[in-house]
Amino acid sequence: MITPKLYGGLEAGGTKFNCVLAHTPSKILARASFPTTTPEETIGHVIDFFQSASRERGPLSALGIASFGPVDRSTGSETYGYITATPKLKWVDTDLLGQIANALRVPAEFDTDVNGAALGEGVLGAAKGLENYVYVTIGTGVGAGIMANGRPVNGAIHPEVGHIFIPRDPQDTDFPGACPYHGDCLEGLVAGPALEQRWGCKADQLPVDHQAWDIQARYLAIMCINLTVCYSPERIILGGGVMQQGHLFPKIRAHFKKLMNGYEQGPAAGNLENFIVPPGLGNAAGETGALLMAQRTAERLEQPPGDMTSTINRVQQ
Ligand code: ADP
Ligand code: ZN
Repeated sequence: MITPKLYGGLEAGGTKFNCVLAHTPSKILARASFPTTTPEETIGHVIDFFQSASRERGPLSALGIASFGPVDRSTGSETYGYITATPKLKWVDTDLLGQIANALRVPAEFDTDVNGAALGEGVLGAAKGLENYVYVTIGTGVGAGIMANGRPVNGAIHPEVGHIFIPRDPQDTDFPGACPYHGDCLEGLVAGPALEQRWGCKADQLPVDHQAWDIQARYLAIMCINLTVCYSPERIILGGGVMQQGHLFPKIRAHFKKLMNGYEQGPAAGNLENFIVPPGLGNAAGETGALLMAQRTAERLEQPPGDMTSTINRVQQ
């Protein structure tokens, strides 16, 4: 009998690191979650988890890591796999991939958390079968994984959709914004910490009929319009802690339609309930994407060496 391969997935978030173990992403065999404290402590827990899982269930074939950023995801770079200039100061210049892959001696693939989540949603979630879509998280920060023609858009480094500048709402001109770099960029206006600063309580404590939500929906609609006109997606998926406020979706769609003012075409002109949607995988998009990255790494390693164009195997022999 052939033993099915065992894959590890790590969703490295700014709040917590989620580790999962599976033969297939749709059936998680084991999971653990560790708060994001210091690299030594959190990475130590991750390594312990996968080491003890391997002792129990056999060796991992590969690991996928989908990380908060900014990260260096250029495979040729000396700092490939590092978390770089993050506002979380303890994590600046942390070799996340190297530390984990070398401790576990396992081939690993590394990408941003949002590219991981976009992959998960594309294979098993709300964007199944689509080649052009965007996954946006609105949580502690704002970030987007953009898929165009079936591939993630990474550009020179990676897009920073959270930091686009958008026009201020006429009802919301006083708040300077919470982004340490730009003040009132998108993230500085709509991420969870910005809502908390702006309204004086945690976002999940704001009543549904609070004016905050209409302002929030308008900013997110403007973001969706900008993404639509730049990337022509077939669908936009909005996830992250703040989007637990499900009542935001109809409000965002209504502002989108009003502000587009008839200019929309294609999927954006159809039923917006199919265009601006919640994640099909709920909170599991990131970990699912990480497992899919592990799976494709293992498949790539099975190919003849000549086919391994961009090698992501960082195991020290
Ligand atoms: P992270 O971005 O750190 O990976 P999340 O996506 O869970 O984690 O986002 C956390 C942010 O989302 C926090 O700022 C929190 O206040 C906010 N948040 C979490 N749950 C809710 C909720 N139900 N309603 C509104 N905001 C929420
Ligand atoms: Zn900014």
